[in-house]
Order: sequence, then structure tokens, then C-alpha cells
Amino acid sequence: MQVAKVIVDIPAMQTNRPFDYAIPPEMNEKLGKGMRVEVPFNTRVIQGFITDIQDHSDFEGELKEIIQPLDIEPALTEELIALGEDMAEKIFSYRIHCYQTMLPTMLKAKYDKEIKIVDEVSEDIFFDLFHGKDTLSWDEAVSRGILPKLIELKKNGQIEVNFILKNQAKSKTVSVYHSELAMDRLEDEYHGLKKSAKQQKVLLEAILSLNGTALTQKEYKEMFDISPQTIRTGVEKGWLKLSEREIFRDPYKDKDFKRTEALPLSAEQDEAFKKMNQSLSEEKHEVFLLKGVTGSGKTEVYLQLIAEVLQKGKTALMLVPEIALTPQMVHHFKGRFGDRVAVMHSALSAGEKYDEWRKIYNGEADVVVGARSSIFSPVKNLGIIIMDEEHESTYKQDENPKYHARNVAIWRGEYHHCPVVLGSATPSLESRARAQKKVYTLVELKGRFNQRALPEVEVVDMREEFKANNRSSFSMVLQEKIADRLTKRQQIVLMLNRRGYSSFIMCRDCGFVLECPNCDISLTLHMDSKTMKCHYCGHEEAIPHTCPKCQGHNFRYYGTGTQKIEEELQGLFPDARILRMDVDTTRKKGGHEAILSAFGRGEADILLGTQMIAKGLDFPNITLVGVINADTSLGLPDFRASERTFQLLTQVSGRAGRADLPGEVIVQSYNPEHYAILFAQQHNYDGFYRTEMSLRHKAGYPPYYFAALISVNNPDEQKAQRKIHEIHAILKKQLSSGTIILGPSKGSIAKMNNRYYFQILVKYKHEPNLHPTLKKILDDSQKENARGLYISIDSEPVNFF
Ligand code: ADP
Ligand code: ZN
Repeated sequence: MQVAKVIVDIPAMQTNRPFDYAIPPEMNEKLGKGMRVEVPFNTRVIQGFITDIQDHSDFEGELKEIIQPLDIEPALTEELIALGEDMAEKIFSYRIHCYQTMLPTMLKAKYDKEIKIVDEVSEDIFFDLFHGKDTLSWDEAVSRGILPKLIELKKNGQIEVNFILKNQAKSKTVSVYHSELAMDRLEDEYHGLKKSAKQQKVLLEAILSLNGTALTQKEYKEMFDISPQTIRTGVEKGWLKLSEREIFRDPYKDKDFKRTEALPLSAEQDEAFKKMNQSLSEEKHEVFLLKGVTGSGKTEVYLQLIAEVLQKGKTALMLVPEIALTPQMVHHFKGRFGDRVAVMHSALSAGEKYDEWRKIYNGEADVVVGARSSIFSPVKNLGIIIMDEEHESTYKQDENPKYHARNVAIWRGEYHHCPVVLGSATPSLESRARAQKKVYTLVELKGRFNQRALPEVEVVDMREEFKANNRSSFSMVLQEKIADRLTKRQQIVLMLNRRGYSSFIMCRDCGFVLECPNCDISLTLHMDSKTMKCHYCGHEEAIPHTCPKCQGHNFRYYGTGTQKIEEELQGLFPDARILRMDVDTTRKKGGHEAILSAFGRGEADILLGTQMIAKGLDFPNITLVGVINADTSLGLPDFRASERTFQLLTQVSGRAGRADLPGEVIVQSYNPEHYAILFAQQHNYDGFYRTEMSLRHKAGYPPYYFAALISVNNPDEQKAQRKIHEIHAILKKQLSSGTIILGPSKGSIAKMNNRYYFQILVKYKHEPNLHPTLKKILDDSQKENARGLYISIDSEPVNFF
């Protein structure tokens, strides 16, 4: 008898291990590791992942049988099965959550699927299984119980599973109109029309000739010269029905990517390349920290390392913080490696993402470029993993499972015996410290490519400006420099630092701030939809005209900052062509890329944006970068505030003077003597690193200490509070005296979605007892968990308070 080990879809401690199921005879030899199956569990039927297949079971009772497979080929590779097991353990997550996270949405959702014959099949199969047709619906295959038979065909490449999309995201559909009325009904309508109703006659004739085919308004106009107004009449009269038609679009398909060749490396690049290539040729796992100043040419080094990997017949994973923000990166990769590159773009629809995923799964793509979740791409035979801008916090997932892509990358690098390259101009303190301890190998690019100078940075004290009666957001010197660049026809990048700065509205009379009724947080103003929204629970309401507290009418809108700055800027420089880039202007698909490429083509003089413009831009004509407010991010209640500010200023400064023209940076600040600003001004990462490390040492923060954040939430404040004190007592008893336990305290947002949050922060250096203790706490809390008292554990939290 064959026995399958199955991780079932019940996220709970007791079910966080494989259960044994008997494989029924007709599925013998057909099921494989990584396939999803339906199994009975208590009185229910649930899904699960097969993690192993054995020929015996240690289970004493009678084994239940697998009901049916849900896949005809494994959804997870053996590597990913093992990864999920380790990951769940390390980050206190459930294995089922880890596995689900690894799959593209399409595979998880209940989409209609069909099975299609793609290669020759025998007559028996064609007639018996497919009833003489090319396709067969998935549901039918399930109800006839023939999936096990299909698994074999899939293995031979004779069939394929396709998803039938219905509810595509809005942006991916167009409105179309078709008629569901019978011919004679339509003809009756036609004859019943008044003579004068000429347009309606044309419409009915068209409908009759279309025979049920759906067209867009535009198509009606083009083909029959029928106006949108007439179509609306047709809908009102019940002749036409509105529905949505999907548009399939690969955002990169129609684009021509200029093919590029490897460039001759500079001496520094070459040295870095050789060091890392060494471990490629030795097939050795090694983690490199590639620390290269902005403009040092890290990308070319990545490209050439990947070229080596492909030459060896292996694959490569290239992670970027957010693809939409780095369209130039995609161009580099598509340009160098063409169709062999799969791009996991966040703007792709679920269907498009699935297509890319399948390309990777089938080995049709051997370079994957993508953001955080692409670290789970089912690439086989990995030769290198590269993580660009490794310091970015987006690599850590804030929700369950709370994994850090860097740790997953290192796990996979070990599994494949391949190097992992962490690249950044401003490495995270953690990574830099690990390089110090020789856990990672430090590789440096100290100068810009071709000995170009790093830009001069001038810090302007905005307090002085205020004293000198300059109430503008732009200091005098910044205004002068902007004017200068405008006459020279050189480009300018201006950044409004919006970290720690949200757009809300406040009553000027009584100071009332509109808050979410469910959460302990102010509502955010959204200019595009003209509403107030809660970022945590999605609550939405109209923008108030009168103050709910004092009935006053004087609201101050701390609105979309960039919009106001743009108006001010345009007032100062009426002739300047300004492009604005923020959440409002980039919401549309391709928004980032459209704005950036317009700027690249020289269609604007000034690019004004939030921190989303800080990375990746490589335009030769930018000679001035201005930071309008360097300080807002310093005020965040987060021990990484200085680090974040330093990184941001360094990154944005790096946009200036990347080609032949020298660059200049103006940083406006109310804290000009802050060390994060001064070190950024001097392009002095090492100085910043030393200062910050000694501060972290004194305060007992990472990387000197590890941290774990335990949080509890419940709709009843007292219940949550009681539980956190209970946990506190256990930790106090179990953990060693060198470990610091902070709290319990209220969560950074004490109330969210009508739940109350409390937390404890554990800081430790060496605490072998922590993991088992936390596991036990989770185990013992299962009953309460089922009643809605949630405990969550975040090891290495990125957002602390
Ligand atoms: P980084 O990512 O390190 O900030 P980039 O990779 O964007 O820097 O490189 C900076 C600039 O130098 C780019 O315009 C790039 O095309 C150019 N460059 C880098 N390496 C080479 C090379 N070997 N030959 C020619 N140009 C190069
Ligand atoms: Zn809310």
C-alpha cells in the first residue's frame, strides 16, 4: 500500500505536521510529492499538500483514503517542500501558510480550468476520456474521476491545463455589449420602430448581423458608426447586455528590447566579478555583500555573473525591491537575455503571473526577475541568487508568514550550492556587520564607473530660511540652482520625503483630526477618489465639510504633499515642465514606467516625487537633485529611523551626475547637524556605520541583539491584556537573565479593525530557550486562538513600534 504524508489546510498548531493518508489503488504510482489533494478530515473534506510518499505508515488506526488529486502535476518542487518545512519552524508560522505563499494566486483560487490536448493521443483516450473533443472541463474530469488517468498524459506532455478567466481585475477588461434576444424578437422590435428612429434601426440591423457577438462601444462606432448614446438606448430597451471582456496583455511583449552585449568591465568591476565568479565555478555556497557606491556599475556585474551561470546551463534569480520602480532593471535583463527572462511584475494580472510562473516551472525561463515573493519561484538548478538593494524593508513580509526574502535566498543558495549576492550602496547594518564577522564575504566597488565624481552635497538649514522670512518650501539656494539648470536645459529631480508623513485633515479651529471608527489611526486623504480611507481596515468615508466636533468650516488639508509642492514649484517657475510621481499619478498600470520613460526622453525638466524616485534612475542629463525635507523620516518612532534616512538620502543623491555632467545635491533640513544627514552629505557609509553601530550597541538593538516581537490581539481589550501578561510571566521565568524583555505595551496602533493589540519585545544575544518557549506558548494557546485570541510572533521584526 502507498501512503501519502499530507499537510492539511487547517492553520493550527495540532495540524502543523503531516498526516498519513492511504492512496487508493487507482491512484497508485500516479500521485507525487508537491501535488495538492482533497482529503477527509474529521467530518470535513479539505485540501492538502503531499509532502512525501512512503510504503508504510506508523499510524495505528485505519488510514483514511485520499479522495482525489487537485493537480495533475506537482504544484511544489521537492526543494520548496523542504523549504516550507524549515521556514515554518524558524518564523513560527504554519507549514500550510508557507506552502500557500509559494504558489501564484491563480493556483490557489477556484478558477474554472480546462484540460486541453496539445499533442497526439491514442484513439481510446480521445474518444473515451475526451468524448471526441480537444478539451475537457476540469469539473467534468473531477466528477468522472479521471484525474489519475490524466496525470500520466500530463507527464508525457500530451495535455495541458488552462485557466478560464472570468473575474479579471478591472483594469484588464473592457466593457462589451451583446444581445441575448432571439432573432425573431429582434425583428419584431425592428418593425415596431418609428420611422424617425433611424439610429435605433441601424443598431438593430447591426445586432442582427452580429448574431450574439459582443463588441465594445468603440467597435460599434468603427464598424457601424453607432454612437455611445444609441448603445445606451439599446441597453435601456433590453436589446443589449453589458458585460466585461478581458484583454490579455503581456506588458513586455510588444516592447522591443534593444539587445545588448557584455561591456568591458572596469578594473574594479572585474575584480569584484572574479571574486564572485570563483564560487560559481567551484559550485560553492557563499554569501557576498557587494557594496558599491551609487553609479559604480553593480548592474553590469550582475549581468555578467548571470551570463556565466546560463553558460553552465543553470538558472538565476534576480530580486529587486519593487519592479514597478525599477523599469530600467527589466530593460537591462530583457536586453541582455531576451525571452529567457521571466518578469514577475506586481502589475501583472493573476493570469499573467501564472503564465510567467508556468514558464519558470517548465524551464522555459532561466532568469527570473521579480520582487519579494519571486524568491519562491520554482526554478530548478539555481546557479546564483542576486538581491539588489538588499537593505530595503520591502524584502520582509509584514503579514503571515513573516519571512525575510534574504533568509530564504540564503536557504536556497545553500540547497543549490550556489552563491548569493547581496548588493547595495547602503547595506543594512545587519548585513554589513555579518560581513565584518566574515559570515558574508565583502566585495567593494569604491568608485563610480569611469572615475566619475560623486555629487557635491550641500545641506541647507531651513530654520535660517524661516528666520530670513522665506516661507516657501524651496530655499533660496535651491531656487537659484533650479533656475540655473532650467536655462542650461539640464534635468532636475526633487524628492519630497513622505516617510512618516501621511496626508490627513485637521480642523483649524479645534484641532480635531478625523479618525477611523475601527482603528486607532487617522484617516488618509485620497485625492483621486475624493475620500478619506483607513489604511488598515479599508474603511472609507466622504471628506467632511464641517468639523464633527466644533462644527467649524476651516479644515486644513495636509493633503497629497507632492501636489501642493508641484503647485508651488510651478508658481516659482511658470515655464518649467514638471512631471509628478506619487501614488496618485502612478496608480494606473505602467504609471511608473510611463512617467520615468517620459522623463528619460527629456519631455520634462523636473521630476518631482516621493521616495519612489530615489532608486534605480539612471539618466545622464540629471545634474541637480533636491531633497525638500530630509527630516520627516528622522522622527519615526523606530530605531532604524537614522539608518533609513541615511539610506534614502544616499540613494537619491546617487541620481545626480551619473554621466559626463557633474551632479549637485541640495538637502533641506531642520536638523542639519544630525549625523545621518552629515554622513550622507560626505558619502561616508563607513562613518555612518561605525557611529550607528556604537549607538545600537549602547541601546541594545540589532545587529547586537536579535529581536522577537510577540503580539496578542482580541476584540476585548481586557482579554488581550490578560493574555499578554500571562505570556510575559512565562518568558520571565523561562529566559535567561541576559535577555531583555520589553513590555508588555500597547501595539504601535493600539486598536486596529476593532481589535486591541498588546506586545512584548524580546531582545537577546544567545537564548536557546526562546524558540521552544515560544512554541509552547503557541501550542498552549490553541483553544483561545480558536476563539479569536490571536498570538503572532515576528522574529527579526522590521517594524517595531
Ligand atoms: P549602480 O547600480 O551601481 O548604481 P549602474 O549599474 O546603474 O550603477 O551603473 C552606472 C552607470 O555606469 C550606468 O549608466 C551604466 O550603464 C554604466 N556602466 C556600468 N558598467 C559599465 C561598463 N563596464 N562599461 C560601460 N558602462 C558601464
Ligand atoms: Zn480602520
